[in-house]
Amino acid sequence: MNILVINAGSSSLKYQLFQMEDETVLAKGRVERIGMETAILVHEPKDKGEVHEVSEILEHTTAIRKVLALLVHPEHGVLESTAEINAVGHRVVHGGESFKSSVLVNHEVKQEIKRLFDLAPLHNPAHMLGILAVEANMPDVPQAVVFDTAFHQSMPAHAYLYPVPMVLYRKHKVRRYGFHGTSHNYVSERAAAFLGRPLGQLKLITCHIGNGASCAAILGGKAVDTSMGMTPLEGLMMGTRSGDLDPAIVPYAMGKEDLTLGEISSMLNKHSGLQAISGISSDMREITEAMEAGDKNANLAFEMYEYRLRKYIGAYAAAMNGVDAIVFTAGVGENSELLRKRVCEQLTYLGVEFDEAANRSGRGQERRITTANSKVQVLVIPTNEEWVIARDTYRLVQSAQN
Ligand code: AMP
Repeated sequence: MNILVINAGSSSLKYQLFQMEDETVLAKGRVERIGMETAILVHEPKDKGEVHEVSEILEHTTAIRKVLALLVHPEHGVLESTAEINAVGHRVVHGGESFKSSVLVNHEVKQEIKRLFDLAPLHNPAHMLGILAVEANMPDVPQAVVFDTAFHQSMPAHAYLYPVPMVLYRKHKVRRYGFHGTSHNYVSERAAAFLGRPLGQLKLITCHIGNGASCAAILGGKAVDTSMGMTPLEGLMMGTRSGDLDPAIVPYAMGKEDLTLGEISSMLNKHSGLQAISGISSDMREITEAMEAGDKNANLAFEMYEYRLRKYIGAYAAAMNGVDAIVFTAGVGENSELLRKRVCEQLTYLGVEFDEAANRSGRGQERRITTANSKVQVLVIPTNEEWVIARDTYRLVQSAQN
């Protein structure tokens, strides 16, 4: 079975075509600058040369049509016909409280995703464009939606509620939802397989550290807490997002700097985090290079980033009354030897025995970076959110057929 995975943004669209039986990616690519005359389409078919096209793509339906044409193109294609695409899986950021797992798309599901636009105004409308664009091009192909929030729906009320008047929750659904759920779910399953132990018996702390970053406490395979909240702004310090701060700063800064709601929101989401403290970049590679060159602000940004992550690990060990393994994943988690080293060296109180050589080797592979005797294991597991979307879509389509 071939599954097309789509991650639609407001002006972009990423795709991967999976052959499920042998778990291969037949093609992947992206369309950027949708809505412009100079939209860019990059298509990377397996074992064939990359295709770059610049053309007018004014909306998502045209973008999908162009992607489908490339997938069956005589020279650049990987399929004979689009009829070989058996299902499409979409990433959807916000599933609110309605979606506790992935589902097949039908009229009610689309209506519910629309009702959730308020909670994810930048993301959910774009995902809907992707769903409708597929529907317009391939009306008979089943579609599934996989939510970033769904995995965290197992959090207990004491973890997901904010200590504010309950009317905000009852009337406006103000609560913690958590994000990166597909990634936390995937790496927790892989960690159990790597350790050769049943997931149901493990206490795990998964750290998805990329441009956006979040930690999750996973007890027996179920998320019991996670650092992102009602929006992806809460929790860890990130590339451009502040993470946790005193909420009283918001009205104070607005008053002092004469900022509008939109401006303060943009400041905390787009102009904070590593970028704000270093004054250099939101990219950990550039921060690390600047630190090596002796830049004090880059060093401070890194120290704050690492410190805040380490505090969350401590909090989640406390939340679960212990931890068996800590997992690093995503761009920074998988690639920054320095961040992992600085964090792990301060976790001796938990029983972490860091293995410096293991931390430096095996890039791109699932591996352990603690010694064989370490009481708590620390693993690096490359995430694969697209694969989880493909796998969930495959399962849903198969069970609908049976
Ligand atoms: P993601 O959002 O998971 O794609 O992660 C993107 C981030 O990973 C980038 O902003 C970089 O800061 C970080 N990253 C990628 N490669 C490296 C590396 N070799 N060392 C440190 N950070 C890296």
